[in-house]
Amino acid sequence: MTALEQEEGMAAAELGPLPAAAVPVLAKALERATARAFQLANQAGQQARTNRWALSMSGIGGCKREAAYRLAGVPPTDVELSDAEEARQAMIGTWIHSGLLPQFENVLAHADIELPVELEVEVPLPDGGTRRLVVPGTADCYSHVMGGGVLDLKTVNAYRIGQIDHDGVKVSHRWQVRGYATALRQLGLPVAWVAWLYVDRSSGEVLVAIEPFGPDEEEETLEYVRRLWEMARAPDYAPRSERGPGLSWVCDGCAWLRQCWGPDARPGDSAALKVHDEPEIAFAARKFKELGDQIGELTKDREKWGAMVGRPEMGAYRDEQGEMIIKYQKDGEEVDKKAAVEQLALLGGEVPMRKRTGNRLVQWGRKEPEG
Ligand code: SF4
Repeated sequence: MTALEQEEGMAAAELGPLPAAAVPVLAKALERATARAFQLANQAGQQARTNRWALSMSGIGGCKREAAYRLAGVPPTDVELSDAEEARQAMIGTWIHSGLLPQFENVLAHADIELPVELEVEVPLPDGGTRRLVVPGTADCYSHVMGGGVLDLKTVNAYRIGQIDHDGVKVSHRWQVRGYATALRQLGLPVAWVAWLYVDRSSGEVLVAIEPFGPDEEEETLEYVRRLWEMARAPDYAPRSERGPGLSWVCDGCAWLRQCWGPDARPGDSAALKVHDEPEIAFAARKFKELGDQIGELTKDREKWGAMVGRPEMGAYRDEQGEMIIKYQKDGEEVDKKAAVEQLALLGGEVPMRKRTGNRLVQWGRKEPEG
């Protein structure tokens, strides 16, 4: 019996062709093995990090409360979560980095890759003095061309690339790269620009974003880290930059999940967000209703515009504001639930049912009199 058979509780393989009934069992076992392989790769990467719980350059742009916990040295309450994560997208990103970055040294003239850097920030102490805070990181690529610049490789999905093309670089990515740029300047290297190379994980297509970098951007970066330092005085009150467990994959894998959302917080479960006091419930219900009403109106509008677009030929369509790209996903098949139920009934089978919680209906009630 092989290790996989043993782990999955499978019967030892018989000699001869695989029986059809064993195919789904083997498929499930291989899916689980893949998940475990991602998990182990992530775990190895996490555990290899030195000073794992200190603030690093990638953390500067991440969740403010997490940065505050790191700066304040609050012990993580959920180490196993960050270790247990499969972190598939992040792992694929890491592997693309390790394959692509060394080639940049060959194709970009005068480039250094994977440069370890340290951002030094003078921060105030409660006694009126100051101390030197050091935030370490590794810059993907420093190029000496055009006055010197920092290039950061980001791997994203096609949807995200479209979003960045439309809205510009994500704020979190900007702080991270500005951190590298500031640290490189502190080393005496000239930095006149910062750039992001967004690589579509599925197609390899690339979107390049470039911004100038000068003393103002350097000072803004130092100031931003000082603000995080201020937040670290009361880290449990630092603003949360993520929506919470069950709603944000960052929270679901955060090593401070229970510190942040309370002892009952569980990854993948948004129950920790629940409020209990009457005014808090009323406030949340009002927000829910207001947004629902807006979505209702927006959905009707969207349906109208969707009907107007129809299904024209794939391609780019332009007007005076720019271009819009229209593409189609591959046609596929889906279960015709109604036909399946009818067929099952015809064959005399019992339709499997499960309990359904009644929908929550939030309606406008009486308004409190003003004044
Ligand atoms: S649980 Fe979420 S909101 Fe809280 S510190 Fe972690 S990432 Fe930030």
